[in-house]
Amino acid sequence: MNSSPNLSTKRPSKQGGSKDLSVRAKFERLGLTSPEALILHLPIRYEDETQIQPIASLRAGVSAQVEGVVIRSDVLQKPRRQLTAVLRDETAEINLRWLTFYPSQLNQMQAGKRWRVRGEVRGGMYGYEFVHPRISVPDAPLSVSLTPVYPTTDGLSQPSLRKAIAQALSSANLDDTLPNKLIHQLNLLPFDEAIRLLHAPPADANAQSLMEHEHPAWIRIKFDELLAQQLSLAAAREARQSKRANPFKAIRTSKSLVERLKQTLPFTLTDAQQRVCDEISADLARTFPMYRLLQGDVGSGKTIVAALAALQAIENGAQVALMAPTEILAEQHFLKLSAWCEPLGVRVFWLAGSVSARARREALEAIRSGEAKLIVGTQALIQEGVDFASLGLIIVDEQHRFGVAQRLTLSRKGEADEDVLHSRSEVVPHQLTMSATPIPRTLAMTFYADLEVSSIDQLPPGRTPVITKLIASDRRGELIEHIAQAVAKGQQTYWVCPLVEESETLDLQTAVDTHQELSQALVGMRVGLVHGRLHANEKAQVMQDFRAGLIHVLVATTVIEVGVDVPNASLMVIEHAERFGLAQLHQLRGRVGRGALQSVCVLLYQTPLSMIARQRLRAMYETQDGFEISQRDLDLRGPGELLGARQSGMALLRFADLATDSALVRMAREVAIELRKESPDIVKRHLNRWMRGREDYLRS
Ligand code: ADP
Ligand code: MG
Repeated sequence: MNSSPNLSTKRPSKQGGSKDLSVRAKFERLGLTSPEALILHLPIRYEDETQIQPIASLRAGVSAQVEGVVIRSDVLQKPRRQLTAVLRDETAEINLRWLTFYPSQLNQMQAGKRWRVRGEVRGGMYGYEFVHPRISVPDAPLSVSLTPVYPTTDGLSQPSLRKAIAQALSSANLDDTLPNKLIHQLNLLPFDEAIRLLHAPPADANAQSLMEHEHPAWIRIKFDELLAQQLSLAAAREARQSKRANPFKAIRTSKSLVERLKQTLPFTLTDAQQRVCDEISADLARTFPMYRLLQGDVGSGKTIVAALAALQAIENGAQVALMAPTEILAEQHFLKLSAWCEPLGVRVFWLAGSVSARARREALEAIRSGEAKLIVGTQALIQEGVDFASLGLIIVDEQHRFGVAQRLTLSRKGEADEDVLHSRSEVVPHQLTMSATPIPRTLAMTFYADLEVSSIDQLPPGRTPVITKLIASDRRGELIEHIAQAVAKGQQTYWVCPLVEESETLDLQTAVDTHQELSQALVGMRVGLVHGRLHANEKAQVMQDFRAGLIHVLVATTVIEVGVDVPNASLMVIEHAERFGLAQLHQLRGRVGRGALQSVCVLLYQTPLSMIARQRLRAMYETQDGFEISQRDLDLRGPGELLGARQSGMALLRFADLATDSALVRMAREVAIELRKESPDIVKRHLNRWMRGREDYLRS
């Protein structure tokens, strides 16, 4: 069980001598190993101990400081042993309560004693109360500045942090890293002024703007942080460009693989596809590694672009690996690429978790020998034991679904293999990542500043926009009748069951139940079921039947979220749509609207809706533009989640917030470009202050 840190009680320390050591370890755990690190450890909030508030003026939820006399106290035995007291000033009374206490506290709370009391006001059963308030002597001078509250770790108290930081403020180097002229020009506070203010804001400072990181002192710090980020990303880009990659020239004769594939396609590329193909093609011909993000809304036709890139590398003798986040998606790529490439004499290899041991051995051997030129798979591709003879291009589809850590493994794998096999260091594969969730500009400029971005901003012709309907779940019956009619007219339907948080079994159960229910309700129609627990070939069979039109209604868990392409499916029902994230909903909806038929996406929701769920559903209803959706997603959730950062250590920004600080991001970007050109010594100084010990994050 989790015990709330606020209510946990201090236990008398048993060890004595090792105290110093353990305190140091705690500072280390927070990364606070130098005065320079300490001064950048900034408060998460402030307490106002600059004034005494009348008890009558208190409100629940605010922290407050009062002074008064104990009028009675009591040790209750029920419902559990606890110490209570009542404190009175000239205006009113408030209750004090301790769930555990020392005898000395009992003594403190004797009636008639006068104290200064500080804490968070809570609405208790018998009126307002302070639970475990801090007690100090009355009538002492009030503090002149707001009291900082720092992020901390178990067992490291605020007073020890405050003391260490106050010391650091007098010993650390607070010189500005930026020249005066620039500070003036940008209308920023000097660094030392900003830092000192944030650690000890004057009593009259605007508490609100401090809280919300909008105070000029915060602006300066956020700018510095963003500048450091821009500078280090630019350095990473330069480092990449100083690496070597094998150049793959575009071969433009009509016999080339690329041209032959284009000729056999049943469609011509859209202008947008042709443009990004040219961008990628030019990158591949360079002697430093491509690192390009291909973004295009669902259905914009990224796969063919990837295939053409792959062929350019292959006809230059290199191997290409294409990875997708789910086996279903990887398999779709495999089928599609096989259909496109095998007629050209390029065999496509398949490597996923579920491949039989023998097939796997053969594939691995072919990859090692270099016979396998095009390999499609899931994460299995980055597992140990896959040795590429000469991996020249890595393509990652729907890359936002992978953690950064995984992407790192793959790009390092390419490097390592090149090292071993060619005993030539620093030759790395080109990398193309594809995403249907466009990265909002602010994010692209920061975390992805090291990426070149190509956008397919046009859908292939003949698509009709999907109609989105929001329907409350009590009308489910009506909906099923409607589906019966649609299916009778030849339309195919997806029915997506929600993810049950943290329970794959429950998840599965819902899908199985729904499948049964729909099978019974839709007499004479074939209802299929696909979910993550099916065996790969069962999954493949179901998908194949659906594609072939043998299955009319496909009940699925979110395994179909990304990339599945069945143009005849024109109706999608998403059950418990309120449980899905915005990006997920957008991906799911993108499964329909791929053919000529008018498509409909029904978001079935269960009331009551939370605020955020309501906003998500509204966004889905109002727009189909992936860029707009991802911007709203960013606004609703913040960048961490969008990037899948939780598991990746990507939380590089401590103070700035990409969702709200885009103006600062732009400013930092411009200044970074300028400084890198004109003032390398300033760059060095600034990075030294901000990026200590964080260099390895910057490579991803
Ligand atoms: P996504 O960008 O979502 O991965 P796909 O690559 O799966 O999209 O393409 C969606 C569908 O559009 C596929 O059936 C594909 O063959 C088709 N397609 C791709 N490009 C074109 C085009 N230029 N004209 C017509 N259809 C296209
Ligand atoms: Mg795709």
